[in-house]
Amino acid sequence: MDRVRESAPQLSGLVPYDPKYLPARAMMSANESPLSLDHDLLHDIMREVKRVPFNRYPDPLANDLRDLIAEANGLDREQVLLGNGGDELLFDIALAWGGPHRTMINLPPTFSVYAANARLVGTEVVDIPRAADFSIDEQAVLDRVARGDIDYVVVTTPNNPTGRLAREEFIAQLLESTDALVVADEAYFEFSRRTVRMHLERHRNLVILRTFSKAFCLAGVRIGYVLGDAQVIRELVKVRQPYSVDAVSQAIARVVYANRAKFEPGIQMLIAERERMQVALRVVPGVKAYPSDSNYILVRLLNDDGSPASEAAAEAWQVLYGKGILVRDFSHSPMLEGCLRVSMGTPEQNDAFVRELKTFMLTRQARRRV
Ligand code: PMP
Repeated sequence: MDRVRESAPQLSGLVPYDPKYLPARAMMSANESPLSLDHDLLHDIMREVKRVPFNRYPDPLANDLRDLIAEANGLDREQVLLGNGGDELLFDIALAWGGPHRTMINLPPTFSVYAANARLVGTEVVDIPRAADFSIDEQAVLDRVARGDIDYVVVTTPNNPTGRLAREEFIAQLLESTDALVVADEAYFEFSRRTVRMHLERHRNLVILRTFSKAFCLAGVRIGYVLGDAQVIRELVKVRQPYSVDAVSQAIARVVYANRAKFEPGIQMLIAERERMQVALRVVPGVKAYPSDSNYILVRLLNDDGSPASEAAAEAWQVLYGKGILVRDFSHSPMLEGCLRVSMGTPEQNDAFVRELKTFMLTRQARRRV
């Protein structure tokens, strides 16, 4: 046959998620950790990986790892599910709680994967935009769920790419006022030091998403997990790919999780860098840095009249990339006009980012004055 029939109609017009993967000296675009695993830990990992029977399928549910995570969170094994990165679990949630004639609430600007997954499986997306300071329009969300037709809501806390935690009181109120599944995406919780975990005790409609990709320096390995009610987890198990979490990743994650205290200094360093960068960015002309509870900072480039400078942001991205610094360009995304997101790197990388951005802004100012 010299042709192929069309793919499913919901794919038409869909653009694949593009994380803008590019090599650079300073990788500051994907909120990964700039740190590699310490030598002793790597040694332990290698020893564990050598024991993996490669000819055998992995334990489908990664029960050993599940037990470790359950115990650390004061939960039972049945309340934990592992996935091939948090991304896979987000897709499982979209499959299990979404679909035709189902509706989800999305709080843009936020992680674009939620809405993309929803569209892929035919879920209607109700966008409730954030305020100018990126806080959630809490009343609008509560009013909308009160209609009773919402199947799930995703609350990212801290929110990516804007940086701040959702108010815990709001999440508690939401959990109380709807039977919709409330997904608290806590991918960055190790940097915010805040969790809604305690609300699992009273609310069966809460599911919390976490990942090994950020604080645990394992973005390349692909491990994420959810904490939730055993009934919710059972539904997710129905849609998941049985062997998505491979045996090598399970072995690596077991060692890392058992040694998670070793990651504390690295996490502390990134939190301290975030605070240091907030101060350093204050003196860069024409740049507004948004407060962050996470391991990245959203900055907005502004024109003299205070309007977003989207073209300048795109140009700054290019100039930074030319200097070996890769950040994420959101300058043409709705509500993020003129914005770049910079993931915290090593102190040297962070200094280089501020220095180059400052040079760019000063040059731009000087150019406009002549
Ligand atoms: N949620 C949020 C808010 C994220 O930013 C990310 C990573 N970009 C994820 C989930 C998924 O991370 P991973 O698939 O690497 O676990």
